[in-house]
Amino acid sequence: MAVSERDIPRLQQIINVALRNGASIHQIVNKLEDALEGAYHPRGYDATDLDIATLVYRLGGRQLLFALNQKLAIPSLRTLRTRAVFTVITPTIGTIRNEHFDNNIHAVVLSSRTESVLCGVSLMIDEIALEEMAVHFSKYNKVGGLCWKHSHLVDPVLRTYESAVNIAQRIHDGHVHLGKELTVMGASCFGRDEIFPILAAPTCKSENANDMEQILTEAIDRWNATGAAAQVGPVWSVATDGDATRRAAGHRLFVKSPLSESSDLYGTLINMPGLNLFTGNNEVTLDFDFKHIFKRKYMHSPSISAGVVLNNGRIINSMMLARYLVWLPAFDKAAVTKLLYPDDPQDVPRGVELMFAIIKFSKSQHAIVNDSFSTDIDTRADLQSIALLSALLESILLPFTNLSLSLSEQFMLLSRYSHLAFAFFHAH
Ligand SMILES: [Zn+2]
Repeated sequence: MAVSERDIPRLQQIINVALRNGASIHQIVNKLEDALEGAYHPRGYDATDLDIATLVYRLGGRQLLFALNQKLAIPSLRTLRTRAVFTVITPTIGTIRNEHFDNNIHAVVLSSRTESVLCGVSLMIDEIALEEMAVHFSKYNKVGGLCWKHSHLVDPVLRTYESAVNIAQRIHDGHVHLGKELTVMGASCFGRDEIFPILAAPTCKSENANDMEQILTEAIDRWNATGAAAQVGPVWSVATDGDATRRAAGHRLFVKSPLSESSDLYGTLINMPGLNLFTGNNEVTLDFDFKHIFKRKYMHSPSISAGVVLNNGRIINSMMLARYLVWLPAFDKAAVTKLLYPDDPQDVPRGVELMFAIIKFSKSQHAIVNDSFSTDIDTRADLQSIALLSALLESILLPFTNLSLSLSEQFMLLSRYSHLAFAFFHAH
């Protein structure tokens, strides 16, 4: 058969489309033959196809995309242009300035805006990988890829050959650096999925908390000054990852003053004893990306490998968890080892899987924990301490992973988490 000798691009889609149209086996075979001869190309690209085509276009340019479109039937550049939104970001060349934020807010956020409903906005900041190299941006005739913090020490404009030599010398002498990573900042509306990049600045990672404070303040100022606050919505929170300098800056800026009695939220929130009511100017709160919270707190962190003690003197560590998690029907020894000692310590999904496994395990052992006549005192003590860990994990996981919870339920779980975490901290 021809299929055994030659590859049919997008075989799955061809059969799917044919089945959807109620085709007979004979018609499906005809379609496959047409596809083999290159006479039939199934339509209906999904998000993955578009992502792959975008990646090919970005890494290999239009020639590679053309070649792979012909051979593998991934979307063409024309399809990509009509189906996907291309975001053009103004890169930061030199020091971070108002215009970098302004250009991006106008081009990426305001110009693409179609709705008139206001929403609360969260500004998020993190770093992404960057190829360490200087690049020439022909649009500006400037050299980019240099760290924003020190690039005021060079003139990035390429006027003559001397300009290039001068920049190279400055990098060589260590006055200015090639960006190791890219600091990116995005704006996102609460309750929606899109994120709009508003800053992309190469960093040599030598920023301190003061620099971060300045960037965060500038971002909020520009959001307001460009009219985005009035057209899209006001900034409600600023979210960062676990980075220490950003956390320090975040605390200085957004855990600053107690919520004013004149605030609309005051009447509700004041009745929640223990809730931290400190905010920044205009009630902007500090937020942390929950994936980073998961990562930092439990997963593959030294705390699990070295062990945590909750309240009965039992040490919960990887070895102890490995012994018990294999009791779960779905996990054998290899699967548990993979969960507890992952190849990539940054693997968030695996960490979440581990936390869910602990919760599931703990729930399946209620009988032993509740059996006060059990003679296996050791096991029972272990299970009791795992039950505490499980309660702690459940309280922080569910508000972020269970979409059917109501706001009150989310709040109760987060409150339970805070109280448990404080109690354990206090006890030790
Ligand atoms: Zn630098």
